[in-house]
Amino acid sequence: MENEITILGSNGTKGLEGGTSAFYINAQNVIDAGNLLHPLKKDVAKIETIWLTHSHLDHILDIAYILDSYFEKRVETLVVRGLPETLEAVQKHFINDIIWPDFTKIKLTDSNKMAMVCKPIDIGEVYRLDETTSIYAFETDHTVPSCGYVVKKNSSSVLITADTYDLSCVERLVKSDKSISTLVIECSFPSEMEKLAIISKHLTPKLLFSGLKSIETLGLQLKINHIKPLYKKSIIEEIAQKQGVWEVEILEDGKKIHF
Ligand SMILES: [Zn+2]
Ligand SMILES: [Zn+2]
Repeated sequence: MENEITILGSNGTKGLEGGTSAFYINAQNVIDAGNLLHPLKKDVAKIETIWLTHSHLDHILDIAYILDSYFEKRVETLVVRGLPETLEAVQKHFINDIIWPDFTKIKLTDSNKMAMVCKPIDIGEVYRLDETTSIYAFETDHTVPSCGYVVKKNSSSVLITADTYDLSCVERLVKSDKSISTLVIECSFPSEMEKLAIISKHLTPKLLFSGLKSIETLGLQLKINHIKPLYKKSIIEEIAQKQGVWEVEILEDGKKIHF
């Protein structure tokens, strides 16, 4: 059976084109909210759960707009899930009645249901999304508390790191969870900008491939996202040199990820 998710926003920051971090799992579930409104249009009203990786703006932005732009169309509460620190940051600094209305205090039209609720996740706990799909989170290494997700459909899984510097979590997981066939890993900066990558806890092609060295013979698919648009050309050129060792694909908005 064909297992797939779709990347809705592949960029590492807002550029002139394209969106930032978001993955479509099924009609009710997405990972991150960087770019939901434009690709999904009126179907954003059907989203029931957003699984956040961390609190940075390029990953949370469209929480604001999917609630506001299709408020009348919503029939279910929007459940925002993530690490407790991530949810606290979203509520304290974003959906707080100052930057944007606090939708956790607003009821849906003609309903007793709240428009939004935040619900923390536990690392490693498996959450079932539908008959064939489940998800669990793992800790990653970024400037704020952050996690990645493993999405399993039928018997195969895709691992999504989101923003991270350290890749030992990936190495550990692919060795312990044999269902993982595909990796989606961020690569924000070219290797010549390693200093900035380390300070901002992101990856360059050099850091990425050295971090994956011990698992390069396992035959996993490797997909790259979160490239800063300004450096796209040089990052793609660098990654191309590694073709052969890894079968690498650079993800673009709307691309289906088969696993
Ligand atoms: Zn980011
Ligand atoms: Zn980030």
